[in-house]
Amino acid sequence: MTQHTPILIVGAGQAGAMAAAALRGLGHGGRIVMAGGERHAPYERPPLSKSVLADAGQDGKISVHPSSFYADQGIELRLGTCVTALDAARQVAHLADGSTIGYGACLLATGGNARALPALPPGTLHVHYLRSLDDAARLRDAMQRAGELVVIGGGFLGLETASTAASMGLKVTLVESADRLLGRALPPELGAWLADRVRAQGVTLRLGCGIAHCEVQGNGVQMRFDDGSALPAALVVVAIGLTPEVALAAGAGLALHPQNGGIQVDEQCRTSAPSIYAAGDCCSQYQPLFGAEMRLESWQSANEQARIAAAAMLGVAAEPAALPWFWTDQFGCNVQMLGAAHPEIRYAWRGFAAHDAAAPKFMLLGTRHGRLRHAIAVNAGGDLRQLRALVGHDVSAHLARLCDDTLPLRQVVRERQAEADSSITL
Ligand SMILES: Cc1cc2nc3c(=O)[nH]c(=O)nc-3n(C[C@H](O)[C@H](O)[C@H](O)COP(=O)(O)OP(=O)(O)OC[C@H]3O[C@@H](n4cnc5c(N)ncnc54)[C@H](O)[C@@H]3O)c2cc1C
Repeated sequence: MTQHTPILIVGAGQAGAMAAAALRGLGHGGRIVMAGGERHAPYERPPLSKSVLADAGQDGKISVHPSSFYADQGIELRLGTCVTALDAARQVAHLADGSTIGYGACLLATGGNARALPALPPGTLHVHYLRSLDDAARLRDAMQRAGELVVIGGGFLGLETASTAASMGLKVTLVESADRLLGRALPPELGAWLADRVRAQGVTLRLGCGIAHCEVQGNGVQMRFDDGSALPAALVVVAIGLTPEVALAAGAGLALHPQNGGIQVDEQCRTSAPSIYAAGDCCSQYQPLFGAEMRLESWQSANEQARIAAAAMLGVAAEPAALPWFWTDQFGCNVQMLGAAHPEIRYAWRGFAAHDAAAPKFMLLGTRHGRLRHAIAVNAGGDLRQLRALVGHDVSAHLARLCDDTLPLRQVVRERQAEADSSITL
């Protein structure tokens, strides 16, 4: 690959936009084409379930880069045009408008689609899914006309949507088939705390509630649950996860992960085909912290993989990926997480706040084999930043001191680091 090799980016979203910027930042002078199926220039998705859902005035404020960026950087945007097939051997992409683009290297940054609930597939009357800016605008319009909303799914997206709807004055019911919220991402004690908080803010929670049958009627959807109970809903949002968009990759014969369905990439975001890379929600990568290959569906991971893929395309060394970090805003809580959950992690609280506190602030710190592996901060993002020196590092945690909120966190972190340094010197 030379500095003038033409590069095609498929997908004008978070990873695509960040990769394009990184390529130019690293001095790539060749042609860069970014083809995107949506009609919008790349925008940030996290606000779609938060500020954008409540306020149409935010729609124009979520661009990944300023609108002049692409022309200034000589990045060709082909918007509203899907790539329909990749000929990996000839290094040619076919587009929906009948045109073709030859490339020296190609990045698949195709994201994913909202997972469909078979009983209420996308397009069903009164039923919404939330993945794109257009989805958010349609849902916002419907929410502004509705008095109530049923959210199906108690993950981050469902909870954020419920929180925004409640703040807009809607009567909200959230239905989750598991018996707790965010079961895979949060420890049970925090899931239970959050459930109490959600209820205290007026949202009706129906946990452990499997949908047995749905009937779409003129004025709404009639839902029946496994326990025989029924719920009429004038407006429904389905938020039950993401399916990676891998049709192009599959068509080109690229290796996909047998369980999570993502495009398999190595630590440099290289797929199984030469000259094709992948980044963001569509790809599956080994995560050392988890000891497993997985898809990380997060803003930070899309950015990190885009940076690493861009460097790999140009044959430039890149810093390894930063520790996984994720945030969500809901029910008056900014929750930030460093590291990740694991069944063997044991958690302890640093500080505590009642679930109905106006501004709760505390942390949950999770250790495994005496090392800090997962830190969760509720309205305490500043404190979380200090823990970057410990999470994921081979430093003994001394949980009792870390959780003693009469001690300044900075002091305890320094102690832990000093102990680790001295043990290395000895
Ligand atoms: C409502 C919502 C709220 C979120 N909130 C948070 C949050 O609070 N914190 C957090 O960390 N993360 C959050 N996320 C996740 C985060 O936004 C995603 O992880 C991130 O956008 C992934 O970026 P991506 O580039 O992989 O995919 P995307 O941003 O989805 O971009 C993929 C693009 O590729 C296009 N595409 C697909 N196939 C083709 C094709 N064949 N040809 C051309 N174009 C194609 C798609 O149309 C899409 O525009 C949220 C996501 C959503 C939807």
